[in-house]
Amino acid sequence: MASQMIIKASKITACKECGSTALTWQTSIINRSDVQQGRLNTRDVECVFFLGCDDCSETLTMVSADKVAGLMNAQVGQDLASDCEALRSQLFELVTLGFNMVGASGAKRKQHTDTLTARLNDLQVQLGTA
Ligand SMILES: [Zn+2]
Repeated sequence: MASQMIIKASKITACKECGSTALTWQTSIINRSDVQQGRLNTRDVECVFFLGCDDCSETLTMVSADKVAGLMNAQVGQDLASDCEALRSQLFELVTLGFNMVGASGAKRKQHTDTLTARLNDLQVQLGTA
């Protein structure tokens, strides 16, 4: 939901009032209650991101900070899932290499051992522990 709204917002490339392409994202604190200015508490206000036209000051779209945070959280989850998937497939290959090594002898065994050692070194570099 939030991501669709932000993707839609990110497709705005020109001002609908004056046609300018000089647009800037900014943040603002808005009053979302009936409380009058000067009597506001933090619970009465909300942080929003809005896309404004630099030339005529028109506000083109507004997204709540909660929605932006939701999108960032979803992104973190996706990055972790794809990292896990990459590690899982590497681990599968390493285990397969290990079995090949055990089942082989002579030159074949040496070849599998060298491959396995090279792969383990690559993995160590990737994990930043080398
Ligand atoms: Zn404009």
